[in-house]
Amino acid sequence: MNSTFNQATSIRRLHIPNIFWLSLAHALALVAVFHFSSSALWLCLGAVFVLSPLGVNLGYHRLLTHRSLKTPKWLEYTLVTLGAAIGGGPPLLWVAEHRLHHRYSDTVSDPHDAGRGFWYAHVGHLFYHKDFEDQQEQWMSYIPDLSGDAYYRFLNRYWIGFAVLATVPLYFWGGWSYVLWVGFVRVVLMLHLTWFVNSASHLWGYESYERKDGSKNCWWVGLLAAGEGWHNNHHAYPTSAAHGRRWWEVDTTYYMICVLERLGLAKNVQRPMKIKRAPAKAEAPLKSLTEVAYLQRGTENSPLTSVFMNPKPPLSVPVKAVSLIAVTSNVP
Ligand SMILES: [Zn+2]
Ligand SMILES: [Zn+2]
Repeated sequence: MNSTFNQATSIRRLHIPNIFWLSLAHALALVAVFHFSSSALWLCLGAVFVLSPLGVNLGYHRLLTHRSLKTPKWLEYTLVTLGAAIGGGPPLLWVAEHRLHHRYSDTVSDPHDAGRGFWYAHVGHLFYHKDFEDQQEQWMSYIPDLSGDAYYRFLNRYWIGFAVLATVPLYFWGGWSYVLWVGFVRVVLMLHLTWFVNSASHLWGYESYERKDGSKNCWWVGLLAAGEGWHNNHHAYPTSAAHGRRWWEVDTTYYMICVLERLGLAKNVQRPMKIKRAPAKAEAPLKSLTEVAYLQRGTENSPLTSVFMNPKPPLSVPVKAVSLIAVTSNVP
């Protein structure tokens, strides 16, 4: 599998449908300026900061990709369908590509390798057709837990229909102003916030954990993208439901997960220990080791964790000490 995907992200030709769709969305977002209404703006912002985290951050990323929690199946389908309806893209390909990103972060096999520069990682990679997308059997091998699900296969194929249908009620509710602001400005904002995780959070920010990849904790992406910008933390502990590890690393997606848990709608929420003092990188073999014990547990519980989601522990942790700490871990 590795040798195949080392060349699978190679670029062959322009991806015309992506270029067309992204250009159209940005053009219509500009047209929205001439159809301004304050109610449309507030609805747009509400959707960006509530629906996007629920559909993409929670549904696509923390639930499907990393299995950081468990929900009833009806809720899982609802969150992932929401992610498709708000323009998150084909969910199965999204998950496969993201697992590939974790496995080969910041190498030539990374679908949005930040080593090729900000614009390539941010949006440029979407302008090119990647071999990876054509090799369905291969990328399906990255999602063996999802590839047999008939509903997800359906959603993966027809997600664009859901996205288009979702804009129809907006027209009857508030006319073109709502379609443009809540449909197109909202999707453009959502896409850029998601893309900043791939670009800015692999280039700018601080590192709580030493890693071979270039992942960073970028504070403004953390705040704007509902917690996804604490990306160095996330790369160190991909299965953790919480990406913010200090009290000031605000992670609203995680807070949503906590609400679901309180309501009895989320179980097995994965939580490594919080970092209580900064900086983690310089001190701390103890707390990091405790977290590694968590990591080891996660690996035992889910073979997918080691295969797809967590290629290596933080470099600062001496591997030989892991077994000592496994006994004393207080991680749930
Ligand atoms: Zn990353
Ligand atoms: Zn991830």
